[in-house]
Amino acid sequence: MQNNEDKFKKVIAHAKEYGFIFQSSEIYDGLSAVYDYAQNGVELKNNIKNYWWKSMVQMNENIVGIDSAIFMHPTVWKASGHVGAFNDPMIDNKDSKKRYRADVLVEDFMAKIEAKINKDIEKARKRFGDSFDEEQYRATNSRIIERQAKIDDISKKLYGAMESENLASIKTLIEELGITCPLSGSKNWTDVRQFNLMFSTQMGSISDDANEIYLRPETAQGIFVNYLNVQKTGRMKIPFGIAQIGKAFRNEIVARQFIFRMREFEQMEMQFFVRPGEELKWFEYWKNKRIAWHKALGIPEDNYRFHDHEKLAHYANAASDIEFKFPFGFKELEGIHSRTDFDLSAHQEFSGKKLQYFDPELNKSYVPYVVETSIGLDRMFLSILSYAYQEEKLEDGSSRVVLNIPPILAPVKATVLPLTKKDGLPEKAKEIMNTLKQDYICQYDEKDAIGKRYRRQDAIGTPYCITIDHQTLTDNTVTIRERDTMQQERIDIDKLSGIIHEKLKIQF
Ligand code: ATP
Repeated sequence: MQNNEDKFKKVIAHAKEYGFIFQSSEIYDGLSAVYDYAQNGVELKNNIKNYWWKSMVQMNENIVGIDSAIFMHPTVWKASGHVGAFNDPMIDNKDSKKRYRADVLVEDFMAKIEAKINKDIEKARKRFGDSFDEEQYRATNSRIIERQAKIDDISKKLYGAMESENLASIKTLIEELGITCPLSGSKNWTDVRQFNLMFSTQMGSISDDANEIYLRPETAQGIFVNYLNVQKTGRMKIPFGIAQIGKAFRNEIVARQFIFRMREFEQMEMQFFVRPGEELKWFEYWKNKRIAWHKALGIPEDNYRFHDHEKLAHYANAASDIEFKFPFGFKELEGIHSRTDFDLSAHQEFSGKKLQYFDPELNKSYVPYVVETSIGLDRMFLSILSYAYQEEKLEDGSSRVVLNIPPILAPVKATVLPLTKKDGLPEKAKEIMNTLKQDYICQYDEKDAIGKRYRRQDAIGTPYCITIDHQTLTDNTVTIRERDTMQQERIDIDKLSGIIHEKLKIQF
């Protein structure tokens, strides 16, 4: 059986080989943590966007969308707190000259201890078989108890130091644990320093400080600064939401795990404006809505879990992540945050403009509270791709690589295949192709044996293959093969479009 690391490597290789994702500027040896979406990748990405936009904007009468600019007035980022506090602690190894995120070095150290615990548990599970009780084993095995206590102790020290921004304590912890540089193997570390994650650039032709602007590190601020414009022009009544999909940029210190952590990425965010005091009710509401959105795709539920934040950011009074079981473990996919009136009040203060809402039912004005849902489009892409990748052994002894992408998100919905290149079959196939392509992204393929052509489509996750054979010419029927079951059904050409349409339906 392959381990998860192997699987992840295969997913990355597959993404390149089958035209989903390429490293940016690959012919120049690539640009770190920047990726390009290829011919199949862009379709999958657009389908994820559409699925999100439809469920947010189309299905909710009180949510509208915007598309704000990436460049914003520099004061926006002072008000939001990003200039002062959007930092990660970094540390350099003096021998390898490599830069690390100090907290990640410690987290990796904890993960190694955790891996040892898991190894012991797996061994015990094999030894005891069905009667194995993991909870009891964790509570009674002295080696596990000791290791768990060590993790708890390190974690308390790390997160305590992070919260109080005590950089010297993080350095001491790295020294105490004897953490070495993975490259040089040395413990020759610099001090820990704060590193601001925003990219800056110059606007205009004169380069002085006044012209320094930032590439937005999140899309949310574009919504906050437009909230009153949208509310007034759209005659929106609280509670209402504004949704946006767009690029964000972060100069991540450690960029790894493929498209999980990128320096240029896309976010799909929705800010929901509510009455003060009602935010926790709406927070629960959006938690439920968002997890239902993920589950509607049909990916088994045990791939998702909530992680409620105990330590909250200064602007939040509740926060929860939806985590996904990536090949490298459960990690944040989406955040749901109750941000209070922090952002709007800050913009009110910094801009000197009133950002209040007059509530006709209460007959008073207030700064609304905000509940936001924020999901990384690229992370969502990775969750789908890494879940979908399967290597299957078939009954006839052969094997196949198939992407079980939820049909609604699949890049190509159907492929039209004439059984042979003669007897008028290609002409008939093209006729069907020309009708279907009005509604769906379709492909036409007449090269190689039919089995080989099926495999090519399995590898990019095409849900339906339509084969045209000699019988088609006599009775106007074709076979439709379903990707996951590989079952084939003979149907009337006239029913094709309806059947595909039915199968691509989804309940939000
Ligand atoms: P993390 O803790 O993983 O850095 P975060 O808590 O900083 O993430 P948020 O600021 O809440 O993330 O951003 C919302 C969403 O944007 C995240 O849930 C994630 O899906 C996505 N995201 C954040 N940073 C990146 C990145 N560097 N690359 C890709 N997606 C990202």
